[in-house]
Amino acid sequence: MNAAPQPQPGIMEIDLYQGGASQVAGQTDILKLSSNENPYGAPRSAREAAREAVGSMHLYPETDHAGLRAAIAQVHGIDPDRVICGVGSDEVIHMLCQAYVGPGDEVLHTEHGFLMYAISARAAGGTPVRVPERNRRVDVDALLAAVTSRTRLVFLANPANPTGTMIDAAEVARLADGLPDGCLLVLDGAYAEYVPEFDGGLSLSQARDGVFVTRTFSKMYGLGGLRVGWGHGAKSVIDVLNRVRGPFNLSNVALAAAEAAMRDRDFVARCLAENTRQRARLRQGLDDLGIASDPSEANFVLARMATAEEAADCDAFLQSRGVILRRVGGYGFPEGLRMTVGDEAGVTRLLEGLSAWREG
Ligand code: PMP
Repeated sequence: MNAAPQPQPGIMEIDLYQGGASQVAGQTDILKLSSNENPYGAPRSAREAAREAVGSMHLYPETDHAGLRAAIAQVHGIDPDRVICGVGSDEVIHMLCQAYVGPGDEVLHTEHGFLMYAISARAAGGTPVRVPERNRRVDVDALLAAVTSRTRLVFLANPANPTGTMIDAAEVARLADGLPDGCLLVLDGAYAEYVPEFDGGLSLSQARDGVFVTRTFSKMYGLGGLRVGWGHGAKSVIDVLNRVRGPFNLSNVALAAAEAAMRDRDFVARCLAENTRQRARLRQGLDDLGIASDPSEANFVLARMATAEEAADCDAFLQSRGVILRRVGGYGFPEGLRMTVGDEAGVTRLLEGLSAWREG
């Protein structure tokens, strides 16, 4: 009998990604606010396109994603040849690490940055480097000071998760300017659609070969379950990524739904307006209950309790009422509770739950 081989050094040190729970034992009426999904669901246009695509499930999907890339390029005014699509932006992040990071190489991410940066960096054999923030905001000077000759990638989510805060275009440009050749700045725009008039860094990735942008269909477009993301960068980078990408990484159904969702600008406009309204209600409600939160530019709010114990207690209380929030200790906020901005009824139910917890 032969035993399984040993994994690459460092693989067993990778943290397992803990997703937001979707169920609570014994509960049926669940309000899931743990993964920043769209409370309005997927656009009808995408559901119809997906239903139609099911008819071709016996056929392999196209490998070049031409239809989806054309839709993305048209909507954003970019070159389709500079776009790559992946199984969520997670896969685009993963491909970047596979292609550019090896043993001894460093990958910078901000103190409270998205967990997948470190996971993908380690999976590629590289070393993730966590850079401190200042007042729960990305600190460009600290990032620049952390760069070494081994730094290959710098990940920056803008707006950031789990804080929902942003840095402005001048700061992002200053970071890009300060990075040496051979170091790619990756601007993660998973929540860019929630910021009015914001291009998520695409004008920068358009102008500079050393800047790459990642985006997703999981949030505003309501397609988290279908797993579609994309990236935009220099043609040379896209060419490299296509060499590590699986040829049939996206299914027929996912491609069809994402293309329809991208073209459904009415849906996006309505969700944006409603998110802005409900986010203001949620923050006001938190304020009224004496719960601290920073202004958020995204579709979630990071509430900060007095202590980690208080956060755990509040989380358990809300779970007992079927409301699922996200503990963010893994992001460096043991006292934090991240909550997706729901629809009108969802925000009301969340605030009622928080108020009952306060009174209890
Ligand atoms: N980046 C950030 C900042 C995120 O919060 C998320 C999802 N939680 C992702 C990327 C990945 O999203 P997806 O793989 O669903 O596109």
